[in-house]
Amino acid sequence: MSDSTAGREALAVENLTAGYGGVTALDDVTISAGTATITAVLGANGAGKTTLLRAISGLVKPRRGRIRIHDTDMTGHAPEDMARGGVAHVPEGQGVIAELTVEENLRIGMMSRRTTSRERATSLAEAYERFRPLADRRRKLAATLSGGERQMLVIARALLGRPRVLLLDEPSLGLAPRVMAQVMDMVVRLSGEGGITIILVEQNARGALAIADTGVVLNLGRVVATADAKDLAQDVALRHHYLGF
Ligand code: ATP
Repeated sequence: MSDSTAGREALAVENLTAGYGGVTALDDVTISAGTATITAVLGANGAGKTTLLRAISGLVKPRRGRIRIHDTDMTGHAPEDMARGGVAHVPEGQGVIAELTVEENLRIGMMSRRTTSRERATSLAEAYERFRPLADRRRKLAATLSGGERQMLVIARALLGRPRVLLLDEPSLGLAPRVMAQVMDMVVRLSGEGGITIILVEQNARGALAIADTGVVLNLGRVVATADAKDLAQDVALRHHYLGF
């Protein structure tokens, strides 16, 4: 993070209400994230975490409230506008295209940008440099990758769009503890060295709070706590009540 960007607000969600048909999944939610910070969004199943990410990436239209990305009001914009505005969304479930090779999957990540073939080659080289295991498997079908490698691939693909705000939905879901720790380390590097603002939805609350700057706890669509991640991790009552650890 350079001094000129340090502390600047990258994302602001203000009084956001959103849902599906008769369901209100988010009710008056406000969160804000500084440039190159990690915000952990936590809460039980059905708390509204995924809907929050879907609203920020334009997949769910807000009924009320505002979304600003780097001081630009993006409320109600379509997903492709959000992507152009610097938001990348990695949904839960490791959405690699199994029938394509690792490299073909990565190339999809550059389709939203206008690039020359030289730029594409440079970007791919950077991705392989950052995610070494992918370089060794570039011509292999994505179907042959392990869970951790698939997670790496979807994150690498999202990064090829050069996002400023990265939304990660349960990146450690289904991974072995050791691989989970590697994914968390990668998230830390993306924010620290990459200068990317990360909104991290996790069921693994303990692991997420260990790497996050800020924690936000949702319950039934409402924010019940927003605090420094270390303080949240030490709040025994809150942990027992909402986070299950
Ligand atoms: P989980 O950890 O189970 O994914 P979550 O915190 O991400 O939970 P959401 O998936 O955002 O929660 O769901 C919030 C609420 O919206 C829940 O009541 C859920 O049943 C409802 N919901 C989610 N998706 C839809 C949908 N497509 N149609 C109708 N209701 C939905």
